[in-house]
Amino acid sequence: MTVAAAFAGMRRAMPVVFRAGCPDCRGRFELGANALRLAIGASSRTTFYSFTCPECGVSVRKPAGERIVELLTGGGVRTLRLHSTV
Ligand SMILES: [Zn+2]
Repeated sequence: MTVAAAFAGMRRAMPVVFRAGCPDCRGRFELGANALRLAIGASSRTTFYSFTCPECGVSVRKPAGERIVELLTGGGVRTLRLHSTV
């Protein structure tokens, strides 16, 4: 069964993939939303996303700007809020 068939009837459930690159092995790949984590801090300096490189296994952490945050949250990436005040 394909992913599309599994989610038939859920029209917004298009499989979302994010392009990412590994600074360690320089691999380029696509990751599903469940492979990414987003941490939103009080400022842009403490807002970042992370994933594990599927090629070399290293943990990658990258700063996430406003657009990236929108993209990731809209794509269903698990989000961790590091600050309690909104
Ligand atoms: Zn890598």
